[in-house]
Amino acid sequence: MSQFHVLPDGRKLVTFIPGDGIGAEVTGATRKIIEASGAKVAWEDREAGASVFKKGLPSGVPQETIDSIQKTKIALKGPLETPVGFGEKSANVTLRKLFETYANIRPVRTLPGVPTPFANKNIDLVVVRENVEDLYAGIEYMQTPGVAEALKLISRKGCEKIVRLGFEFARAEGRKKVHVATKSNIMKMTEGTLKRTFEAVAPEYPEIEAQHIIVDNCAHQLVRFPEWFDVIIMTNMNGDILSDLTSGLIGGLGFAPSANLGTDYAIFEAVHGSAPKYAGKNVINPTAVLFAGVMMLRRLGEFEAAAAIENAVVAVLEDGKFRTRDVVGDQGSCSTTDYTDAIIAALGRKPSRAFVREYKAIRMPQVAADPDFVKVKERKVAGADVYVEWAGKVDALGKDLESAVAGSAFKLHTISSRGTKLWPGGSAITDTVDAFTGRFFRNDGGDATDAEILDLLARVSAKARWTHVEKLNVFDGANGFTKAQGED
Ligand code: NAP
Repeated sequence: MSQFHVLPDGRKLVTFIPGDGIGAEVTGATRKIIEASGAKVAWEDREAGASVFKKGLPSGVPQETIDSIQKTKIALKGPLETPVGFGEKSANVTLRKLFETYANIRPVRTLPGVPTPFANKNIDLVVVRENVEDLYAGIEYMQTPGVAEALKLISRKGCEKIVRLGFEFARAEGRKKVHVATKSNIMKMTEGTLKRTFEAVAPEYPEIEAQHIIVDNCAHQLVRFPEWFDVIIMTNMNGDILSDLTSGLIGGLGFAPSANLGTDYAIFEAVHGSAPKYAGKNVINPTAVLFAGVMMLRRLGEFEAAAAIENAVVAVLEDGKFRTRDVVGDQGSCSTTDYTDAIIAALGRKPSRAFVREYKAIRMPQVAADPDFVKVKERKVAGADVYVEWAGKVDALGKDLESAVAGSAFKLHTISSRGTKLWPGGSAITDTVDAFTGRFFRNDGGDATDAEILDLLARVSAKARWTHVEKLNVFDGANGFTKAQGED
């Protein structure tokens, strides 16, 4: 039985959200071309974004839209805006979280007839971006009036899902190389979890070459030798930034599609936003959403229609008669509707060089549902880091904190500020702010209890305002915390 909602006439139902700004034009063009291709698809029209915010719904996504995606399991959407003055939640993020579309797939490919400084390179790569964790969860706090904090939460389970999906995607498209790009040299716990998970999973895909690359070097090599890359897996923020870079390599956002994939649901859209200055002008490039529609057709098993559309687009670009403003500038460009009609007229044609590869359906990875995904045999709490607000000298804070914990279960080990050790004997040139961290270890190296940590907090707060506390966990003998710069 199909996982999708199939109508009695055999067509699969897709939730269709036109979106804001240029959304109606790009999704409308895509719908027209998909219908002309003969794909067995029917649409259920639903709303999200600016129009919904303006009706006073703070999520930007009404229940009918949620119900529709729950039924169809698949959506094609235009870009959504969060209008200023209508709350701060993005309707895009709401949709991503509601349907746990944990992977964002962003392919780019050199296209004939699209002039770019990289047009002579054979670029054909895919960024596989983790879509629900990382700094983009937006968990932020003000520790003091002048010091802000963001939590970068990365789970082993989330990493395993995105890594397995990256390899499964490579397999489905017959791709040969998968990179993972991380900042694990600095962020050994968070980014390091993605690297270690990748290294653990890669041997299950022996036919695929697996390589780690530091993400900043990845940015550098993407510009120098973009043709080296095939599939690149990244955490959410790195993937967001570098996938805009990769879009730029092949002619810009007008050509960059994206698929948000979850275990059960999939939402297809362009990488670009609503480009409001072009709304209603009939000048924008609909290819990004159209290519997202092509990915959607493959997810639905409509491989023939997908190939026909992809071939038609490439044939039209190759002819060079119909190209939008973003490709050739104002002189000699065509309208969105002329470009759309040219693609429809080209359905059934093939470009001079084969473009469409062999595709298979992606096997979505199955990862155990246990909430405690990683089991440990032994654990202890070696101590605690207590963050405090303190506007004085660090030596005075050291004296105060040492005297505060005298006779307790803990001793003060170090004081740091924003990750650099300042006490004892810190760097004379480090500028300080009013946020410090006291690191306390249990005196006897034993396992600290919650009652002892609460006593520690009470003792610290007699001297300074505490703002945040972290337990210093040790799991199976490995420290679950990093050292400050300069800490021994
Ligand atoms: P944008 O809408 O992506 O537009 C940035 C620029 O990219 C445009 O000014 C235009 O460049 C070019 N561009 C984008 N799409 C194009 C297309 N189809 N054809 C030709 N050129 C295209 O980014 P933004 O202006 O930063 O964001 C506008 C709104 O969209 C914001 O409210 C943002 O929150 C929202 N947004 C939504 C999504 C989403 O729904 N997934 C994603 C991103 C942004 P030129 O000016 O050089 O011609």
